[in-house]
Amino acid sequence: MTFENLNLIEPILKALKTEGYTTPTPIQEKSIPLILQRRDILGCAQTGTGKTAAFSIPILQLLSENGGQQERGTRKIKALILTPTRELALQIADSLTSYGKHTGLKHTVVFGGVPQRPQTDALRAGIDILVATPGRLLDLMAQKYVHLSQIEMFVLDEADRMLDMGFINDVKKVLKVLPEKKQTLFFSATMAPEIKKLADTILVNPAQVEV
Ligand code: AMP
Repeated sequence: MTFENLNLIEPILKALKTEGYTTPTPIQEKSIPLILQRRDILGCAQTGTGKTAAFSIPILQLLSENGGQQERGTRKIKALILTPTRELALQIADSLTSYGKHTGLKHTVVFGGVPQRPQTDALRAGIDILVATPGRLLDLMAQKYVHLSQIEMFVLDEADRMLDMGFINDVKKVLKVLPEKKQTLFFSATMAPEIKKLADTILVNPAQVEV
């Protein structure tokens, strides 16, 4: 199996080649085709399995195909990736930078504990994809720096850690403002009953992917 076999577009294949990736990891091989078919995903995968690329690559591809070449400033956020920690958020943003560098899509990352201003400047300039931790996202939403009414794709990354860290109510608040019609990708290292319950409330006919 190669990335070419997954029907990825040339700008993404080129970036993956630069990264030195030749073979998709099992989670990528299983998830990417399903996400490209616009299925909801319930993914059970740990960090280190290639999970980040498993959702980042198809998001970049689907948004590129939808005409991601708009002027900055007129861009609306079309994909939201929620993750529990600053480290994970930065890592996801780095992945989007690497895999998306030939797509023309823009992204930024917001998390707490740092000044807001550079983040609001980036948001104002216009982005297609937002990577966020829940607390700072809610702050920025309350101040109307972030508008999520055009979201087409939503990723809940490390759902079990979200729960452990006490972010579940924040996640639910974010979910409330997202459009009903969207594709949701839900990832968790474990599938405890509470996680499964949350997944059941937000996913529609999900494909289950385990590695
Ligand atoms: P993740 O599980 O998403 O945190 O990824 C773990 C590490 O594997 C990251 O450093 C990625 O850059 C790397 N990686 C992800 N997918 C591949 C791949 N298909 N081939 C080689 N390295 C990869």
